[in-house]
Amino acid sequence: MNTTLIIGLEVHVQLTTESKMFSSCGTEFGLSPNTQTDPVSLGLPGTLPVMNRKAFELALKTAVALDATISRFTKWDRKNYYYPDLPKNYQISQYDLPFSTGGSVPIPPNKDGTGGGEVRLTRVHLEEDTGKLTHGAGGFSEVDLNRAGIPLLEIVTEPDLRSTADARACLEELRLTLRYLGVSDCEMQEGSLRCDANVNLHIEKDGKTIATPIVEIKNLNSFRSVQLALEYEALRQLKKWEADGLTINDAPKETRGWSDPEGMTKPQRTKETAADYRYFPEPDLVPVVVDDEWLARVKASIGELPAKRRKRFETEYGLSAYDANVLVEQGQDVADYYDAVARSTSEYKIASNWIQQDVLRIAKEQKLVMADFPIRPEVLADLVNRVKSGEINTNSGREVLGKMIDSGGSAADIIASGGYAMVSDKSAIIAAVDAALASNPKAIEDLKGGKKKPDAVKGFLRGQVMKQTGGKADPNIVSELLDAKLAELMG
Ligand code: MN
Repeated sequence: MNTTLIIGLEVHVQLTTESKMFSSCGTEFGLSPNTQTDPVSLGLPGTLPVMNRKAFELALKTAVALDATISRFTKWDRKNYYYPDLPKNYQISQYDLPFSTGGSVPIPPNKDGTGGGEVRLTRVHLEEDTGKLTHGAGGFSEVDLNRAGIPLLEIVTEPDLRSTADARACLEELRLTLRYLGVSDCEMQEGSLRCDANVNLHIEKDGKTIATPIVEIKNLNSFRSVQLALEYEALRQLKKWEADGLTINDAPKETRGWSDPEGMTKPQRTKETAADYRYFPEPDLVPVVVDDEWLARVKASIGELPAKRRKRFETEYGLSAYDANVLVEQGQDVADYYDAVARSTSEYKIASNWIQQDVLRIAKEQKLVMADFPIRPEVLADLVNRVKSGEINTNSGREVLGKMIDSGGSAADIIASGGYAMVSDKSAIIAAVDAALASNPKAIEDLKGGKKKPDAVKGFLRGQVMKQTGGKADPNIVSELLDAKLAELMG
């Protein structure tokens, strides 16, 4: 029996704007409950919404970047329902004429090279966020309307995803793209990126395909929970079908919530259908007309997106897919930094290693964003060039980099004053080899006796020789001379 997992995602993203979708109220995260409200977000009678043009523009930018078709005429609708986090008793959203349809998100392949491809988008529309309910102790629930009215982009995919890993990869790529676009901070734990997943199974049996009832999973607030919840649901639906045989034709769509602590999905309220929401055009807002000039301006504001940048790093700099991805997925500032380094050196691979192993580590330790990183790209490129030319070895280069950060001095000064220049003088290195062998007779015995792996013993001895030279010897010459000496000793 063959089963296929069918997954579609529905993603809500809070747009980064100074004010709310339909009023001038602020949008800062983390303020005391109900301090960031105004008559519009409280839904007071007699208030009127005014569209936030910046929010619409960020939404346009996102949809254009995702290759969607932009509607030149779009309107607002009321989605009517009662809930304590929705004081107006309706949400302003878009129903039959969303501002964008179609488009796609690229999915990078998994690490083992499987999966990947692209997921089609059904639509992207703009709406307002609701307030937040906290179900606290003592049986009380608290309402915080700070979030009510924040611009919210809803991105709906087609059910194109076929594995939990692809679902996760798609969501990660979407987040990276939104961050490159600068339209949202996409902090899942702060709720600025929220994901629901629709999932069911296609089961092949006796030459027929049987579809299980569709389940919408809510409350997925981390990438890990997206993957775990989908894995759980795939198994649950298979077992349930084996027990009751119910198919998509026998049961309505079910809404279930993911419980992270319990590691399981649980039934929630049954989902309203579109008819229950009594959608009708919002009478207090005019439709939006997107003209050529506006669209052209938005298009021009879109920089190079992650998928394209990975490809360019591979073709322009000859990086492996792995290296290109590490640099790109760190964020636009890191990818920009690498591009800038690569303008001052042609040692692209070494520059990539230095950024991945040293620059990122130091930036993390010192909690620095790249804009504040003390070593400018051209200065790092200069250091890379000095290592490549043999002026210093890689180990010394690391030390020099550390000192450059501590003292702010130039590479040239630190190399000269610290005596870091690489030792390539063969007679000096032969002396170091002899000294290292003389003080480690046991290692030579191990090698002769065959008790230890020759490579391990040689690695140890290479380290001892480097130590004799204060870490400054040319490692290639050390290997060459040490190997020759050992071959002599072994007869
Ligand atoms: Mn929505």
